[in-house]
Amino acid sequence: SFTQQLLSGAGETEGSTFKRKFISVSRPDEVQEARLLLPVVAEEQPIMEAVLLNPVVIICGETGSGKTTQIPQFLYEAGFGSPGSENPGMIGITQPRRVAAMSMASRVAQELSLNSSKVSYQIRYDATVSPTTSIKFMTDGVLLRELATDFLLTKYSVIIIDEAHERSMNTDILIGVLSRVLKLREELWKERKDGAKPLRLIIMSATLRVSDFGSNTTLFPTPPPVIDVAARQHPVTRQNEIQGVCRKLEARFGKTAIEERKRQRGAGSASRIFGVEDALKSGSAPLKETDIEAEDIELGDAQAEDVAFDVDADMEEDPEALDSDEEDALNEELGIDVDETETPMHVVPLYSLLPSDKQMRVFQPPPPGHRLVVVATNVAETSLTIPNIRYVVDCGRAKERRYDITNGIQAFQVAWTSKASAAQRAGRAGRTGPGHCYRLYSSALFEHHFDQFSKPEILRMPIEGVVLQMKGMHIDAVVNFPFPTPPDRISLQKAEKVLLHLGALTKEGQITELGKTMSLFPLSPRFSKMLVSGQQHKCLPYVIAIVSALSVGDPFLHEEALLASADSEKEEDSDAEELKHLTNAAVRAKEARRLRRKQFFTSQHTHSSLGGFTSDIFRILSVVGAYEYAGGGLQFCAEQFVRPKAMEEIHKLRAQISNIVQTNFPGIDAGFVPKLNPPSDLQIKILRQLLTAAFIDQIAIRKDRADKNADGGVQYMSAQGVAYKALGIAEDVFIHPSSVLFKVSPPEYIIFNEVVRTSQVWIKGLTVVNPAWLSSLGKSSLCTFSKPVKNSAGVFMVTPHFGPDGWELPPIKAEATSK
Ligand code: ADP
Ligand code: MG
Repeated sequence: SFTQQLLSGAGETEGSTFKRKFISVSRPDEVQEARLLLPVVAEEQPIMEAVLLNPVVIICGETGSGKTTQIPQFLYEAGFGSPGSENPGMIGITQPRRVAAMSMASRVAQELSLNSSKVSYQIRYDATVSPTTSIKFMTDGVLLRELATDFLLTKYSVIIIDEAHERSMNTDILIGVLSRVLKLREELWKERKDGAKPLRLIIMSATLRVSDFGSNTTLFPTPPPVIDVAARQHPVTRQNEIQGVCRKLEARFGKTAIEERKRQRGAGSASRIFGVEDALKSGSAPLKETDIEAEDIELGDAQAEDVAFDVDADMEEDPEALDSDEEDALNEELGIDVDETETPMHVVPLYSLLPSDKQMRVFQPPPPGHRLVVVATNVAETSLTIPNIRYVVDCGRAKERRYDITNGIQAFQVAWTSKASAAQRAGRAGRTGPGHCYRLYSSALFEHHFDQFSKPEILRMPIEGVVLQMKGMHIDAVVNFPFPTPPDRISLQKAEKVLLHLGALTKEGQITELGKTMSLFPLSPRFSKMLVSGQQHKCLPYVIAIVSALSVGDPFLHEEALLASADSEKEEDSDAEELKHLTNAAVRAKEARRLRRKQFFTSQHTHSSLGGFTSDIFRILSVVGAYEYAGGGLQFCAEQFVRPKAMEEIHKLRAQISNIVQTNFPGIDAGFVPKLNPPSDLQIKILRQLLTAAFIDQIAIRKDRADKNADGGVQYMSAQGVAYKALGIAEDVFIHPSSVLFKVSPPEYIIFNEVVRTSQVWIKGLTVVNPAWLSSLGKSSLCTFSKPVKNSAGVFMVTPHFGPDGWELPPIKAEATSK
């Protein structure tokens, strides 16, 4: 092999740049054998020559070809990351997902027979990095934050940006920033001539669509070489429209249907239940009826078959993914359905938020005589390769975070994926032999409704967070930044405007002291601002808990489904349908669980100590407090109907933020004390005011008050409740059934954290606002209000300045201003 030739000195030819290995490594025999079969290993010489001769190299290779595990090893063997070599700085590899960063670090360590202090990882809350680390896997967010404190990345000799085809926002920004860092490092090297070589950049992609990086001359004036690693891909036969299942799914997943499911069950479980159950039923049927085109696949040979179910998108942000008890239920449900196939199935889930030891189970062989079934989110689409997958069932869905630029409504949406993603998913079945992919959608739908590629995230998401981060790195003219795909000017302007209003930027677009402080926190600028203003009256620990919880997301389980079910016959029906496949005992258990949850959410005890019916945020705060007093744990979460993963993550984020405050602001005591004392009445009032200031542009006013022409006698009631008007949203909005304000006398002014569109527009995460606060609180925030002025009728009037889309604020009644 090339490696052996190199070690023996053979194969060194005149003019060859890459002559010999700097470090010799010892790999376990089975690793050595397996890696020689990887396409990337056969290309070691051209890859290393390109890397040594060029500051930037792009490497394309099918998923599973060995990019992530092998290329860091080539670099390591060539001396990168080792003291005494020409490139002593660390080898840094970025991943869009935490799970990939962790599992790849452990795999590479294992392949090189090194420990985790040599081949390490760093993710948001966790790191194994040590002073002797040579190879460091990290999330792209971690490297972006490092750039804020060390723009030259002096600790690294090479950076690998992996999974660049995914076009995550962080990846795109990193590539733009690194194009500048490379230049600076080269200048520095020329000046100093201190021996160490300048920084190198390797961009790795699973698809050949790299023109956004490769031939973008603002990014790289000299087009970098593109190395295409030919993949050894076995044929994968494909089958659409399985016995009417996909038509059923398409009908069910039609736009309104999916929204309805989301409302009832939460987005994650909707696709899970339909996807897996139907996929399995359809997937198991052809095992007997072999009515597919793929004659060359032995469908009857069940022993060696592995089946992957690509359920839907990555649930990194959505802890609604399979919970551990649901996983057991899944085994049960699937077990019942597939009895006829005779071979028992060993079902394991795979998604980002799953604890890492459980994630590793996909790499272990199933118990003897079992088929391995992996139920995966799109974490298995490109970043993890599970060996020996023979069948893929692709529901064709992807869960994407979407953002409506006109009204700021953000939502997770389950939608059809792209043609490129579908090809990736199918490809997973052909790594080790011929495979088969069941596509649960018609070929017509694929042709006409699937985009060629998924849109880069930077075009789909609000960008004030990254703009602030960039300003923090003194990239002032963001418009001139070499984005691989530039966001449109309007989003950029909007982001700058929000940051200006928050006080993070000057009128000239430069970062302020406040902005610098805000950029230290791994939070959206709105939440960072709340932290900065949260120091008064010892409120900071509560604010830290609140922004942590709001950043992680609603920790409550299925509450909306339960509350909706209180009045809805429809929900009962569809549940009954869903439960049809369960045994009676399971149905009873599920029903009992549901009743308990319903009771819990209709009794309001969790937040009554915190100001009663004034804020949904306080209910979350109180459950965070209660969790810490109970010492955390699954028992507590089960009893209180909160997601353990979310609660753990809130705990960690609180600790992280407290730590950032503690280290950066020595005068402020923010030592992390998990157990909060209940806030005083004064603190509750201040917290409400802080929430009002932070969300002042997300204010809703009861329609009978918002309507200037209303005389107060008109009631804007409908079956859904009382109508509200919200800034920038044309339709009426309604208090979501999950809110503590749903069943109480509807307040006149509320601020909201979230807007959700289903059959109508709901507002969630509500806090009651005292209108008398608006004029003073508004000033420091996204919109401003004039001082209340009494008119001739003795009514206080305030004028809001919301910008062009604003409506005129109604007069505030005199008595409303008295506290
Ligand atoms: P790429 O980055 O090109 O998608 P990888 O380097 O991730 O490819 O994977 C190369 C090979 O290593 C694959 O065949 C994969 O199955 C195998 N592999 C990766 N991680 C593990 C692991 N933890 N256990 C066993 N095999 C693994
Ligand atoms: Mg990879």
